[in-house]
Amino acid sequence: MSAQATFLFSIDLEEFESHSSRYFRKTPLSQLAQLLLDFLKEAGMTTTFFVVGKVARAYPEVIAAIFRAGHELACHTDQHNTLNSFTPKEFRKDLERNRASLLATVPAADITGFRAPLLSLTLQTSWAYEVLADLGFKYSSSVLPASSPLFGWPGFGTSIHQIKGIQELPITLGTGIRRSLPFAAGTYLRCLPKKWFLEEFERAKRRPSPIVGYCHPYDIDIWQQYVIHKEMSRRPYLNPFLYWGRRQTIPRLRMLVENGFVFHRYADFLATWRG
Ligand SMILES: [Zn+2]
Repeated sequence: MSAQATFLFSIDLEEFESHSSRYFRKTPLSQLAQLLLDFLKEAGMTTTFFVVGKVARAYPEVIAAIFRAGHELACHTDQHNTLNSFTPKEFRKDLERNRASLLATVPAADITGFRAPLLSLTLQTSWAYEVLADLGFKYSSSVLPASSPLFGWPGFGTSIHQIKGIQELPITLGTGIRRSLPFAAGTYLRCLPKKWFLEEFERAKRRPSPIVGYCHPYDIDIWQQYVIHKEMSRRPYLNPFLYWGRRQTIPRLRMLVENGFVFHRYADFLATWRG
């Protein structure tokens, strides 16, 4: 499979949560997931959904619909906790529960992929690869290969490679002054100026590796109530970024498809990828 114009787009299926405002108006996850499924169907693309275990238990009908539409199901931890909060033993239990919750709805699913919440797989938590390999997982897409105020693994490198028996697909970064920006992921996908966004995709088209990125259901929730999040109290200027550009997410994805980018299920891509 050629990496030319390959966008390994994925969806991290999780709820938008806030510790400061437990009750605020937001669109049900089932509706947002349906809008994403509608877009993918219209585009004729299949992709990978990294699903949180508690979401799989709360919305079995959504999990069944994703599977029926031909998309890949993968794990995103059971409760959306970052890897630094686990011991290896706790992580193993959590991941087993996450996978079992998906298989409870779709026993036929082949679940071989994982993404760490907030891209929290770093040098310090790289023991996670041993747990993943031990449980029969084949790949992970959990590393932000740059310095970041949250999590990042600057020395990882930007190419897909195997580590302790697991293929890691790091999130793609921009070029030049944007070399630490994951332009195809979440907030960046919808907030970067359109010119930058398209420039980075055009440049990446000429590189041998695929582009790896994602969005969440809430990245398209234009109906959600605006709340100030306690988690943002140390950097209140970042709060608006949780909301900006949500109207842009699907149009931008559609624009990429119109520009010749092709999405793939991660497992399918890796089955033929020869770095
Ligand atoms: Zn997540």
